[in-house]
Amino acid sequence: MSTDKYKSVTAIYPGSFDPVTNGHLDLIARGAMIFDRLIVAVAQNMDKDPLFAPAERVEMIEAATFDWKNVEADLFEGLLMDFARTRGASVILRGIRAVSDYEYELQMAMMNRKIEPQIETVFMLPGEAYSYLSSRLVKELARFKGLPKGLVPPVVEERLRAKFG
Ligand code: ADP
Repeated sequence: MSTDKYKSVTAIYPGSFDPVTNGHLDLIARGAMIFDRLIVAVAQNMDKDPLFAPAERVEMIEAATFDWKNVEADLFEGLLMDFARTRGASVILRGIRAVSDYEYELQMAMMNRKIEPQIETVFMLPGEAYSYLSSRLVKELARFKGLPKGLVPPVVEERLRAKFG
């Protein structure tokens, strides 16, 4: 039987992940189930005023995804499609929480398709419990010590506590 009928699919899940939330992890778990390899890619050049340094964001993702053997985390700079090509990825994974995410995501996916037609963007929906969750909200609440339990992994909770008390 020819083995080239079965190809292994690498997907990239890009974002700022400042910091990673349980909503991101919900998507990572779903992605890890259907793709052979999932690379969570932390963008170094997106946010001008991040709370966590890019390397620290990668560390937190690594700690939170330790049990998923086909998931890894890495940094990327510059064009996402260049990073995807060098990693041999054929899929970009993105999450859609609500209609408000759609317009921006559509624009990005279409532009990325124009840059590299061989790479497909796949959208997944998080569990309902995470549909309102964003890194921005997590940071705002943590700053005022009002972050409810269960929205971020323990490693992020610890580091937020170290920053804000
Ligand atoms: P970006 O700055 O690129 O939007 P984020 O780190 O905020 O990066 O998000 C990365 C990806 O994860 C985006 O596709 C975003 O829509 C998705 N995402 C963010 N929060 C959630 C969540 N709670 N549930 C599902 N997907 C999410």
